[in-house]
Amino acid sequence: MTHQFQRIPIFYSADHNLHRPQFEYDSGFQIPYQEQARRIESARESLLQLPFTQEFQPDPVLTIEQIARVHSIALIEHLRERSAFARQHEQIMGQEDLYLYPWIYPLNQQMREGLLKSPDSAGCYAFDTYAPIGKNTWKAVYASANLAYCAAKTIIQEESRIAYALCRPPGHHAGRDIMGGYCYLNNAAITADQFKQAWGRGAILDIDYHHGNGTQEIFWDDPEVMFVSIHADPADEYPFFSGFAEERGGEQALDTNLNLPLPKVCDDQTYLNALDLALGTIKGFQPNWLVLSAGYDTCQADPSTYFTLTNEVYSEIGNRIGTLNFPTVIVHEGGYAIEHNGLLSARLLSGIIDSST
Ligand SMILES: [Zn+2]
Repeated sequence: MTHQFQRIPIFYSADHNLHRPQFEYDSGFQIPYQEQARRIESARESLLQLPFTQEFQPDPVLTIEQIARVHSIALIEHLRERSAFARQHEQIMGQEDLYLYPWIYPLNQQMREGLLKSPDSAGCYAFDTYAPIGKNTWKAVYASANLAYCAAKTIIQEESRIAYALCRPPGHHAGRDIMGGYCYLNNAAITADQFKQAWGRGAILDIDYHHGNGTQEIFWDDPEVMFVSIHADPADEYPFFSGFAEERGGEQALDTNLNLPLPKVCDDQTYLNALDLALGTIKGFQPNWLVLSAGYDTCQADPSTYFTLTNEVYSEIGNRIGTLNFPTVIVHEGGYAIEHNGLLSARLLSGIIDSST
């Protein structure tokens, strides 16, 4: 075994800073874009202050073929092509930082094909307005996915047993053929796919406040990948159409999908009870690896959500996850109380390390 890393590697790329939409539509009203670059810089600073971490900035080694194992080529091409289009448009208009927002959504394949031939195709692979495309969006999205891929490779090559990928944009709302909810490519799914190729069965635990509809969709029919998600009830929270308890996996993969929707107002104890259920289910599946989709929008301070988790409970959440003691990649997802991304990611990782070593 070659331990390239004496400490826990924190995978980071500065390219995420290139993706900076200015606004989003919240309940139809224009507000500042919540998925800000500072979120990741805050997490980076706090994680690197821990005595057992080191930063790693990987080369761009993820291939389009590897991405296309979990996403359609059409979506990938759309992202690249629309980023180039945004660049051209800026030059023509003589303006900076223009972002293309999806505004026409195809309801069927016929509509999609027609729309694709038009100059108004931004909505062809989107399910909402939260994933606008600017000239550098593809670059940032690729770099984010590359971190997730490289983190998986590091674990597979046994250079470390735990790695943290500081992914931005996040990924868990992106499905095989669709983007939305600040997400373009599904970083956790790319990590899980690498693990699966190397080691077979494994599990993804998603602790973001919102349901990871994209991850669920990608592995819905896959009996080798269990997806477990703890999130706010989609009956009254985003993404609204996915994340209900009765969604248990496709016919060939029944009971490899577990959704644990919680009431919008949820305290530490209610959350920890759900976490214990999630971890027990994962253990029973006997996975060889774990991907943790780590969102911090469950905290009380988050401006866009309703759970009331205390800062302290993130150490305990990490502790309980760490007892699973599987080779693990932590993939950064949501969290919009900007500085809390730092505090809470450090607590979560410390908790995992404390109980798994
Ligand atoms: Zn979220």
